[in-house]
Amino acid sequence: MSRTEVDSVAAERNGEGISDADGEGDTVIEVSDVTFGYTAAPVVEDVDLTIEAGEYVAVVGPNGSGKSTLMKLMLGLLRPDEGEARLFGESAHSFDDGERVGYVSQHASAAKEMPITVREVVKMGRFAHVGFGLLSADDWAVVDEALATVGMAEFADRRITKLSGGQRQRAFIARALAGEADLLVLDEPTVGVDAESVEAFYDLLEALNDDGITVLLIEHDLGAVVDHADRVVCLNREVYFDGPTDDFVGSDALARAFGAAGGILGGGR
Ligand code: ADP
Repeated sequence: MSRTEVDSVAAERNGEGISDADGEGDTVIEVSDVTFGYTAAPVVEDVDLTIEAGEYVAVVGPNGSGKSTLMKLMLGLLRPDEGEARLFGESAHSFDDGERVGYVSQHASAAKEMPITVREVVKMGRFAHVGFGLLSADDWAVVDEALATVGMAEFADRRITKLSGGQRQRAFIARALAGEADLLVLDEPTVGVDAESVEAFYDLLEALNDDGITVLLIEHDLGAVVDHADRVVCLNREVYFDGPTDDFVGSDALARAFGAAGGILGGGR
């Protein structure tokens, strides 16, 4: 993937008038004093978290520590019992500009059975922009740019079921780019992806972040987090650490949040 390709998609997004050139200074996510439990016992408690446009933030924590729940609260898929979650300045629960958020889940499992091509998946990203109409030549150009940006142009006509895990995740990033997402939320996106493709995947995320896309990564692989994220939020029901990645590495937050399993830095799962 060339920088030019990344730049041209970024220019495309900005050309549509989304935010300023790199979105600096805009608050993307604002979680204030949020507490939530599926039952009476909270699984997320008193969480305060603000993410500004252009940041690359990783949320880490042991299994069951509330990472996915916090993500759902941030995206408005769950409603806080106490406190408030805001997305692009609106109450997350009533936010209805969904194409601004690109979501890449673990395994992208929903896609595995879809008998459609990569280009068709990416095309779905344009739907919010074309209503019920057909895609114009410009829309198709955005689709093709997005495919090129993630290095998937040569696989455009391949069925999504015939891709490797890493390629499939790239296709889903391309769909988000085609939708002009300015926030990418990824929930352990490289589980099951081979080591070589994992590196390339993180390089892609970094390039997109350099071009102004806000990245929120929920990640179990602490090595990847340390190598790539600028800021770490360490969660275990409550926030144990929130700050620059370098400070996290030198802190005792990991041991406190992970308990006995605290020595796994760099070791992944
Ligand atoms: P993580 O993403 O860090 O693994 P989760 O947010 O998935 O953690 O889970 C936090 C806690 O909430 C866990 O104890 C989990 O069992 C529980 N939990 C998650 N989803 C549900 C649900 N839909 N109903 C009831 N409990 C849930």
